[in-house]
Amino acid sequence: MTILKNHSLLNYNTFGIDVTAKYLALVNSLESLNLLLSNNLYSNEEKLILGGGSNVLFTQDQNSLVLLNQIKGIKVESEDAKSWIISAGGGENWHDFVLFCIKNNYAGVENMSLIPGSVGASPIQNIGAYGTEIKDVFEWLDAYHIPTGEVHRFLHSDCNFGYRDSVFKNKVKGEYFIIKVAYRLQKTATLTTSYGAINKALEEMNISIPTLKNVSDAVISIRQSKLPDPKQIGNSGSFFKNPIIANQNLQKIKENYPQLSTYPVNENESKVAAGWLIDQAGWKGKTINNYGVHKNQALVLVNYGGATGKEIYDLSSEIIQSVKEKYGIELEREVNVL
Ligand SMILES: Cc1cc2nc3c(=O)[nH]c(=O)nc-3n(C[C@H](O)[C@H](O)[C@H](O)COP(=O)(O)OP(=O)(O)OC[C@H]3O[C@@H](n4cnc5c(N)ncnc54)[C@H](O)[C@@H]3O)c2cc1C
Repeated sequence: MTILKNHSLLNYNTFGIDVTAKYLALVNSLESLNLLLSNNLYSNEEKLILGGGSNVLFTQDQNSLVLLNQIKGIKVESEDAKSWIISAGGGENWHDFVLFCIKNNYAGVENMSLIPGSVGASPIQNIGAYGTEIKDVFEWLDAYHIPTGEVHRFLHSDCNFGYRDSVFKNKVKGEYFIIKVAYRLQKTATLTTSYGAINKALEEMNISIPTLKNVSDAVISIRQSKLPDPKQIGNSGSFFKNPIIANQNLQKIKENYPQLSTYPVNENESKVAAGWLIDQAGWKGKTINNYGVHKNQALVLVNYGGATGKEIYDLSSEIIQSVKEKYGIELEREVNVL
């Protein structure tokens, strides 16, 4: 295992923020993680776990031991008549894992093609796109409990999945290093194509009976046309969550803003499109020096190169304040601010 001292994290976060880690450890096995954390030199350091760095905003140097998850390996754990249980090391790249599933006809993750980041982070915020979420395919995960060095298995019911949320963002935040995640993938696909522009993209591709690969290709092309590529423009995808509002309160807001875009969540609550709120508050495309709000996607804050995390954080605070003043709705950041 490699341990680097006072190392730049510039290449380890998709926002392209240049901060330094006191230590950066490239963790490639459970054994090396255990050895590292039982070493007196490091055991007392603050720990920060990092996968692809695609959902973090660094606002300062990290005076900690940064554990970069590089634990690999994909395995068929079991199968029955209808499904397979497939596990993957937390350090596997999520999109590569999706492509592996598609190649083998394992159905269930195709709509989550091209989400950046690692397998290990996929349960943390219950990643999702185009009508599907990790919670729909999640079976179990194994996680290293940092305070005790024990490995604990979390079943679905232990994870408390919610919209961009799980127990790992709340009750046990920072306590566990996720080493392996297992998903239940179907032998007969039930494709979800009605969400977003998938059907339209399939039509344009002249496909009437789509395969997993066709759906994945459609999702990839939609995402590439809508979202900035972090390799070209630093960003962390959606910076804010779509707020969930009680229908009672929504009625009042809709009296002033009848075009407000909303989706029902349950009988009493609806999800409001945060991008619409930010756009209508005049932020879309706004650029300040070398950072700003993306010109096509008001939910995405961008670093055109050289911005600091603090500048982007302050911009996000201004947006939150302005949306609150205009609509009385408080936006919540989806990105982990560190
Ligand atoms: C262009 C773009 C598009 C995106 N689109 C989507 C989308 O459609 N849907 C969606 O849900 N998200 C999306 N995201 C956000 C991001 O891809 C996901 O949140 C992803 O799961 C983050 O993975 P990561 O490995 O990069 O996590 P990191 O950014 O490295 O870490 C995120 C958080 O998880 C913790 N963490 C990471 N790995 C572990 C581990 N092994 N054990 C314990 N804690 C860990 C970190 O400490 C941190 O708090 C997008 C991001 C970008 C840049």
